[in-house]
Amino acid sequence: MTIDTSKPILVTGASGYIASWIIKKLLEKGCTVRGTVRDKSNKDRYQHLVDIAGQASGTFEPIQADLMNAGDFDEAAQGCEVIMHTASPFIRSGIKDAEKQLIAPALQGTRNVLEAANKAESVKKVVLTSSVVAIYGDAADLKQTKNGVFTEEYWNETSSPGHQPYAYSKTVAEKEAWKIAEAQDRWKLAVINPSFVLGPSLTNRRDSTSIATMLDFLNGTFKQGVPKVDFGVVDVRNIADAHIEAAFRAQAEGRHIMVGAHSSLKGIAQKIEEAFPKKYKLPKSTINKLMSYLVGPMFGLSWKYVSRNVGKPLKFDNSKSLNNLGIEYIPFKQTVQEHVAQLENDGLVKS
Ligand code: NAP
Repeated sequence: MTIDTSKPILVTGASGYIASWIIKKLLEKGCTVRGTVRDKSNKDRYQHLVDIAGQASGTFEPIQADLMNAGDFDEAAQGCEVIMHTASPFIRSGIKDAEKQLIAPALQGTRNVLEAANKAESVKKVVLTSSVVAIYGDAADLKQTKNGVFTEEYWNETSSPGHQPYAYSKTVAEKEAWKIAEAQDRWKLAVINPSFVLGPSLTNRRDSTSIATMLDFLNGTFKQGVPKVDFGVVDVRNIADAHIEAAFRAQAEGRHIMVGAHSSLKGIAQKIEEAFPKKYKLPKSTINKLMSYLVGPMFGLSWKYVSRNVGKPLKFDNSKSLNNLGIEYIPFKQTVQEHVAQLENDGLVKS
């Protein structure tokens, strides 16, 4: 199987933090991108992509589509050999109705986009943006692994609509994608499973969870200290490259853990401090487990979350992304430094 890169490429959720980087890189390669947005009349959400296309050799075409509307992606998929499905709600706080806000759009959206792939004879490859949270739910799950490391063979079996609902939404959506992919044999499915994504944004949006989290650090939200929570981190530009490599490398298929570094809430603060000494009111210490139970709810962390995550180690195997996609991970210090610089330049934080 070869991919004809001159054919249009459908990218869902074009306005998003990650999708914007994917589309920029595709446009710079001269590709024609059909990018779906929820509301085409809201040009502010995608004007940056129109501007990038104006400077690049590729072409950008905005298309209106909502994850919850069956059939919305069908026409846009016609003639495409590649579909990249990134759109999915990524919210961690303010969740009142997990089913409505997270699970239904993730699951139904995956069905609608992959049904569009089934209806378009031209489609050869679907790249799905999943997450490492489809592999594990809580750090405590590491104990269930054979060698003390998460690999692509594991599935999150501990999240539910009531506990880690975002992780649950990503898990059921990815499982549904595999079910649909395995029921046909025309197109291959390649899944990208990013850890926590940071790095400069192409827009001055604040409402994307990755960006909002970095702003919380810089604005002093965590200055009293942070719980000892470990996680993987990765640069947004590496995630964009992974989608493109997974699409264009004919043999690339299956899941790909994307972890550039193992870090923690305190680790992010330390990297900001190293790059911008004494500039921001950053957390200098971690709070102990008992304190984490007490103040956890302020961070949106339930007692169950604290018990299954605080103070627990995490380890990921990223070798498949290195060997099969050729990813060269950007050092975490550079990611943080360039992310903060972008937020300063865009006036989102006092420099
Ligand atoms: P983002 O900036 O919030 O982008 C999410 C995108 O999904 C937006 O374009 C949004 O469109 C779209 N969307 C949400 N609900 C929709 C609906 N009902 N219909 C159509 N579009 C809808 O977040 P992101 O960080 O770029 O996330 C992109 C993908 O990466 C998601 O699948 C997320 O789960 C995954 N991911 C992210 C991270 C991370 O750390 N950032 C880590 C692992 C995986 P609007 O602009 O209209 O809201």
